[in-house]
Amino acid sequence: MPKKEYINIIHKLAEKNFFPGTSGNISVRINKRQIKITQTHIFKDTLTVNDFATVSINNKKIDVNSKMRPSSETRMHIEIYRSRPDISVIIHAHPIYTTYFAVSNILPDVSILPETEKQIGKLSMVNYYPSGSEKLAIAAGKASIGSNALILRNHGAVTMGSTFEDTAIIMEMLEYLCNISYIKLLTDTLASLKNNNSED
Ligand SMILES: [Zn+2]
Repeated sequence: MPKKEYINIIHKLAEKNFFPGTSGNISVRINKRQIKITQTHIFKDTLTVNDFATVSINNKKIDVNSKMRPSSETRMHIEIYRSRPDISVIIHAHPIYTTYFAVSNILPDVSILPETEKQIGKLSMVNYYPSGSEKLAIAAGKASIGSNALILRNHGAVTMGSTFEDTAIIMEMLEYLCNISYIKLLTDTLASLKNNNSED
């Protein structure tokens, strides 16, 4: 069962509007065969330890071992756990600036800030496939090999790690990087417009 400290981390991300509406989902690997994942259609700012469904990761079909309906993105979490035996936590969120880059199909440059580069590592863009589809699950699973941070095109973000803290930090730093990158994009555009005008 996810611990109370983990719930506090999810509430903190929810307060930052990383999960607009009831969007986003969080999972934790509890053993080699099972994960706990947030149930579908639930607000993350009031999430409790009882809002997680148990799901098998070994079978092709999703076995639900509780009365709760797991997140519609469960297949994506399972494919990532299969691809990454080293990780134990996955957070899928829709933070505003990261989602801006997802809809613009621009991969931010993590190296503009040494701090974000150190904490995020390699950042990958996943092609657009409908939310909850097997194609999205497979594409995210492949992209997760060697990358703890994914931007899902026209959708949102996924981060993963061996602990809740690490996974949440990567998500926060990704959104911070995207916020700074967005401002830089605006100021660079303004500067180039100014330069073009002065050349006329
Ligand atoms: Zn989503």
